[in-house]
Amino acid sequence: MTKMFNLAGIVDSHKIQYNISPENIISNADQIKVFEGNRELSILSITGIGTKTDSAIIEVEEPLDISKSYRVIIEGYGEKTIVPTDIFDSEYFIQNYTYDGNDLGAVIDGENTTFKVWAPTASKVVLNLFTSGHEGDAYKSVDMVKGDKGVWSYTEACGHGTYYTYTVTTSVGTQEAVDPYAKSVGLNGERGMVVDLSKTNPDGWADHSFTNCIKNYSDAIIWEVHVRDFSNKIAGSKYKGKYLAFTERGLVNEHGMAIGIDYLVDLGITHVHLLPVYDYATVDEANPDSEFNWGYDPKNYDSPEGSYSTDPYNGEVRIREYKEMVMALHNAGIAVIMDMVYNHTYSANSSFNRIVPYYYYRFTESGENCSESGCGNDTASERYMYGKFMVDSTGYWVKEYKLDGLRFDLMGMHDLATMQRVESAVHSVNPKAIIYGEGWDMGKTIDGSAQANQAQISKILPTGDAIGGIAVFNDVIRDGLKGSVFIDDSQGYISGDGAESFPAVLFGIKGGSGENESWKVDNAMVVNYMSAHDNNTLWDKLAMSNAEDSVETRFAMNRLGATILMISKGMVFFQAGEEMLRSKPLGNGEFDENSYKSSDEINNIRWDALKAGSMEQEMSKFYKGLIKMRQTYSIFTDNNTEISGATITELDGRAYVNIENRIGGKALVIINPTAETMTYDLDCSWNMICNGTEAGAEVIEVVNGKIEIPYYSAVVLVNNQALTS
Ligand code: CA
Repeated sequence: MTKMFNLAGIVDSHKIQYNISPENIISNADQIKVFEGNRELSILSITGIGTKTDSAIIEVEEPLDISKSYRVIIEGYGEKTIVPTDIFDSEYFIQNYTYDGNDLGAVIDGENTTFKVWAPTASKVVLNLFTSGHEGDAYKSVDMVKGDKGVWSYTEACGHGTYYTYTVTTSVGTQEAVDPYAKSVGLNGERGMVVDLSKTNPDGWADHSFTNCIKNYSDAIIWEVHVRDFSNKIAGSKYKGKYLAFTERGLVNEHGMAIGIDYLVDLGITHVHLLPVYDYATVDEANPDSEFNWGYDPKNYDSPEGSYSTDPYNGEVRIREYKEMVMALHNAGIAVIMDMVYNHTYSANSSFNRIVPYYYYRFTESGENCSESGCGNDTASERYMYGKFMVDSTGYWVKEYKLDGLRFDLMGMHDLATMQRVESAVHSVNPKAIIYGEGWDMGKTIDGSAQANQAQISKILPTGDAIGGIAVFNDVIRDGLKGSVFIDDSQGYISGDGAESFPAVLFGIKGGSGENESWKVDNAMVVNYMSAHDNNTLWDKLAMSNAEDSVETRFAMNRLGATILMISKGMVFFQAGEEMLRSKPLGNGEFDENSYKSSDEINNIRWDALKAGSMEQEMSKFYKGLIKMRQTYSIFTDNNTEISGATITELDGRAYVNIENRIGGKALVIINPTAETMTYDLDCSWNMICNGTEAGAEVIEVVNGKIEIPYYSAVVLVNNQALTS
C-alpha cells in the first residue's frame, strides 16, 4: 500500500495535526520536523509516538501565524504544506478573527468605492479592476491592506459598472476569486461588479413593496417553476426563457386560452416559487440555449443568474430585469419565493475556498470534502463567517428584491442556530415572508441535535412580527398519497394502497402533527405536496404505479390527491403544471425522474395542452376550484382547528376527516380511495362544496342522509360557520 501524507493542518495556535495512511507507527519524535521556509520550529511534544496511528498532534513552541506557510516532514512519508483547518473552530481564532461588520463587499461612497474582503489566512490580497465583466486585462491591480479581524480593504476612485476580482495568496497558493458579496457579476460570473443599486431600479420600484396576500403560512398556495420552463413554449412571448417573460400579460395559446401570468392569476395561486435564480455555473450565459440546468450549482450567491437576462454581459441588466419580474408578479397579486442553495457550491474550489481555504466547507480528518449533500462539497453553516454570509445574503435578497419568501435546499445540512439568525434577518425585513426548506435528516456531519431538520425545526421560533418560523417539506404525506418516490410501482393512498397509507395522509392533513414516529412540527409548519421538481411528475408517477389502470382512473386519483392537499392544514405546494397533468416523457413508456440537465423539450410547460375540454384543462379547472374553496372557507387554513379522522373500514381505506374550528365551524371530508362508488349516511344536513369532480366557493348542493362518493374521490362538506374564523 502506498504511503500517503494526506493532510497537515493548523488546529490551534500551537498545534498541528497530521493525517497519514495507512496507519503506522512513528517510533521516534526525531522522524518529524516542522519548518517555516528553512527555519526549523522547536517541537514541544508529539502525540502517539510508538503507537499505531493515522493521525497525531504536534505541539510547537512558538505561536503559529495562520497567514504564514509552514511545512511538516515525516520520515518515510515526505513533506506537506501545513494549511489552517480546525484552528477555525478554536477559541483563539474565533476571538481574533470573527468579523461582524456590515461593510464586506464593494461599497460606493460618492466618487469612491471601498472594497473589503475577509481573508484572515491570506499573506497578500490584490484587488484587480476591469472595465469589462468578461474581456481584457485588469486596468489596475493593487495590494489591499490587512486590517482588524483579517479584513483586507482598499479604497479606489471608481464606481458603478467597475468589474473586479481578488487575487489571494494563502498557504495553498495564489488564486483569483470573485467577491462572495458581489451584488452582480459579468458574463458567467467570472468577475464581480461594483453596483449602485439605485441605478438598477425599474420605474415604480421605489414605491413598490412586498405582497400582502397571506395572513399565515397556511394561506400560501405555491406554484414551483423554473424560469425557462415557464415561457419557452409561449409562442407569443418576446422573452422566452427570460425573467421578463413574467412581465408579459394578455398572452394566449393557439386555442385562445390564457397562459403565462394571466393563467396564474386565474388559477388563484398565491406564490410563485422560482427554482434557482442566483448566478449558477453550468449554463453558458453567452449561449444559454446550448444547455439546460435547474441551477442547483451555485457560483455567485448574491448576483442574479445571467442566462435569464437579456444581456448577461452587463451586470446591471440582470438586476433590473429580476426586479421587473418581481414587480410584475406582485402587480398581478402573486408573491415571489426564491430557492436558496447554500449547502454546497458548484465547485469545491469556489471563490470562498480560494479566499479562505478549508474555512467554508466541511472536511474529513484526511482532508477530503464531506458530501452528505451528494454534491461533493458540503458547506459549513456552523462556521460563523459562513453563517454570517447566509444571514447577510438572505436579508439582502429579501430587502433589495422585495421577496415574499425563501426556500432552502437540503436545509438539514444547516445548523439550527444559523437558520434562526436567517429567520430573524428575513422577518425583520418582511414579517410576512414565508421560509421553508428540505428538512431531511442529513446524517452526521454536524451534531444531530444541531441540524435544522424536520424533527427539530420547531425549535426555531418566529421573531418580531413574523407570521411563522421555518416550515419543512412533508415527504410523509407526499409518499403517503402517491407511494414512494424511489420505487416506480409503489402505490399510495390515492392510487390503490388502501388503509395502509391513511395514517401518513392524516399526519399531513393535521399539518404535520399527530402520529408519525420520526418527526412532527408545531403550528402546521409544513409544506404539503405531491410533486416538486425532483422525482417524477405526479402524472408520470401514476402512469408508472398504476399502469394497469385507465387514464380516466388515474385522472380521478390525481383529483383525489389534490382534494386532500387542499383541505390540509399547512402550506400547499405543487410543481408548475401538476395541475395540468405535467409529464416528462422519454418515450417507450419511460419518464424522466431527474430532468435537471435534460432538454428544454422535456422540461417545458406545455401550454398548448390547455384547450376547452382537454383533460389538462379539466384538471386545471378542478385545481382552480379547489383553490377557490380553500381560500373561501377559512376553516382549512385556520391553524387552530381540531382535526380527527379514521378509516371507515379497516381494509380498503375509505375514511372520514372531521375539522372543527373554535367558533362552531365544521367540515367533514369523506374519502373514497377505492375503485367502487361508496355510499355514506349523513346524520345532519351539510353544504357540499366539493363533490369529487368539481369544487369552489359556491355550495353545490345541500345534502343529508345517504350520499354517494364517486370512485377515487373525496367530497367536502361544511356547515354555515365554516366560512369565517
Ligand atoms: Ca451563471
